Amino acid sequence: MDVTPILDSLNDAQRQAVTAVAGPTLVIAGAGSGKTRVLVHRAAWLIDVEGVSPQGVLAVTFTNKAAAEMRGRIEALLNIPVRNLWIGTFHGLAHRLLRRHWREAGLPQNFQIIDSDDQLRLIKRLLKNLEIDDSCWVPRDIQYFINGQKDEGLRPKHLNDEGDPSRRQMIALYQAYEDVCERGGLVDFAELLLRAHELWRDNADLLAHYQRRFSHLLVDEFQDTNAIQYAWLRLLAGKTGIPFVVGDDDQSIYRWRGARVEHIYRFQKDFPGTAVVKLEQNYRSTATILHAANSVIENNSSRLGKKLWTEGADGEPIRVYAAYNERDESDFIIGRLRDWIDQGNLRAEAAVLYRSNAQSRVLEEGLINAGIPYRVYGGLRFFERTEIKDALAYLRLISNRNDDSSFERVLNKPTRGIGARSADMIRAYARANACPLWRAAGALASDEFNGRAANAAHEFLNLIETLARDTDGLDLPGKIDHVIHASGLIDFFRKEKGEKGETRIENLLELVSAGGGFEPDPAAEMSPLDEFLSHAALEAGEGQADAWDDCVQLMTMHSAKGLEFPLVFLSGMEDGLFPHQRSISDPKGLEEERRLCYVGITRAMQTLYVTYAEQRRLHGMDSFSQPSRFVAEIPDQYIEEIRPKVRVSRPTRAPIVGRTPIRQGSEVGIRLGQRVRHKKFGDGIILNCEGQGAHARVQVNFEDAGTKWLVLSYANLDLM
Ligand code: ATP
Ligand code: MG
Repeated sequence: MDVTPILDSLNDAQRQAVTAVAGPTLVIAGAGSGKTRVLVHRAAWLIDVEGVSPQGVLAVTFTNKAAAEMRGRIEALLNIPVRNLWIGTFHGLAHRLLRRHWREAGLPQNFQIIDSDDQLRLIKRLLKNLEIDDSCWVPRDIQYFINGQKDEGLRPKHLNDEGDPSRRQMIALYQAYEDVCERGGLVDFAELLLRAHELWRDNADLLAHYQRRFSHLLVDEFQDTNAIQYAWLRLLAGKTGIPFVVGDDDQSIYRWRGARVEHIYRFQKDFPGTAVVKLEQNYRSTATILHAANSVIENNSSRLGKKLWTEGADGEPIRVYAAYNERDESDFIIGRLRDWIDQGNLRAEAAVLYRSNAQSRVLEEGLINAGIPYRVYGGLRFFERTEIKDALAYLRLISNRNDDSSFERVLNKPTRGIGARSADMIRAYARANACPLWRAAGALASDEFNGRAANAAHEFLNLIETLARDTDGLDLPGKIDHVIHASGLIDFFRKEKGEKGETRIENLLELVSAGGGFEPDPAAEMSPLDEFLSHAALEAGEGQADAWDDCVQLMTMHSAKGLEFPLVFLSGMEDGLFPHQRSISDPKGLEEERRLCYVGITRAMQTLYVTYAEQRRLHGMDSFSQPSRFVAEIPDQYIEEIRPKVRVSRPTRAPIVGRTPIRQGSEVGIRLGQRVRHKKFGDGIILNCEGQGAHARVQVNFEDAGTKWLVLSYANLDLM
């Protein structure tokens, strides 16, 4: 057999890993050294050269996007489609198992996945039902507690209150939460993993079947597995399975979600005879970017320690831009993106990364104004938008009347005269009779409700039944299309004023397209609608329906893990934002933030911009910050400052007083923060200036017209 195509484009260390004899293997290596590439080639090698059936290989990656990419690459290497190869995220694979074995897993066939929002709402409702004060028992804390226990594989019955009353209460709430989920057939993300683990643990025959089937287990991003994921993997491996895991301790960034980098160290103990392969050559980034990343991560004390090198050129310096405020930062980024696109580059090859989701809004606004298509991963996710969740709730109810979260969500949306009091009565009835809200509403409508409330409740119940009847037999997009109209959602959002309502309607229509483009798995033992709903819940964590293919990529640094882009912006590099305020005083937390910064820097292949704002309005509050300490950890020799740091209060040149018309900035001198007036755009403030003589340009933030770049010699600005 000709083995060269698979090994051709690998270096010696990579080859050694790909062709490792059939035993446990741990590849431990820095960013961009080809770990994911090795994993892909390993799968192809096993199938093509070792003759392993594609059915016998299970590959786990971190995101659905990465899984799709991995499948594509394996198929490209093998030159054939490999349908029966299992590739997915831990959650995706767990879900697949539970759908197949719902009975053994103790779930109803049409169980529904709830995302973190649904989960939080469910917890709030629970507190209300139990008449517990949610200011003492913060719903988010309870959610964190429950998920944390599940990630460790612990049910309420395993927990001991250790004589601590508040812990006792938490455990009781966890139990109550479990009861509600059990009744409604609801499964949260952490539950997917825990159930899948219990499924195998408690069904020896089933486990034996899968152990026989999957002889090779390939895991990417191994440093970020949590306890239950690792336990699941160990169960599956048993005595005969061969795990092949790749990871980088310097990129462990999910400790706050239960990830345990220690698994890298434990692996060799748990799987005696493990072959360890190290990769040190980086193929992704320029030498400058790599040096910068190495310099930053060196400040961490707890690491295995490895140094990346590259044969590549030094490349461009890292450009640091000190923005005046968050708008100026976003304008700067958009200006550079524009240049990038004008030079004929693909938009999708540029990524803007930020520490927290909320930062995307200003960037999004700027991109929309500039007419640059973009896509947000994580954050304002398509499947998490209000209107989409409303539509999905109707669809879920059609599929499962006992889905309480969905029932609550659309009971009175669009408004149909079911007031808070009626809703409370429904909840109380459901609680007293331990039944789903659906049944409670039916009972009350026929019995206790007065005329108006009874009519409204009947109207709702009938609506759902009618929707179910009328959509029966329609294909998936047909069902969605019917539901968004007949539920009254489209009309409801039409009444919402302005662009917002329009966008919502566009999104709803986009959902019909999403349904049209959805390819159900022929092997899945459920209806395409149920499969689509599960897909929506799982996808909400990352992708969104594609409006454009070639879009600028916006995402948090967390979601950027494993990806690479020729052009990268690290934005919002300010102490307090990144490193995050809550990690600054906790050494372990700070090290995790630094690893995240390392992940961010190493996403860049050719060009890296680092930006920060001296003044930032976020979550409705203004703050003044220092540049991130991580920026200072990059040696000066790799940095080019785009312009000297200036403050509004510190003029760059002699200030001008009086209402002098300015023609050329370089001659008369302008200062940042200067108020100016333009004939057409009105009053504004100078944010930025560049160029000399006839080319001198200023950027002005106009009160009404927004931010604009103007050529001084034409603009006829009056100084105020
Ligand atoms: P990360 O830690 O960020 O996940 P990684 O170790 O998984 O990175 P890859 O994404 O597999 O690294 O590889 C980084 C880049 O280098 C990719 O573009 C990959 O195709 C390229 N690459 C890796 N090995 C080689 C090689 N031997 N020859 C040429 N290109 C390579
Ligand atoms: Mg990778």
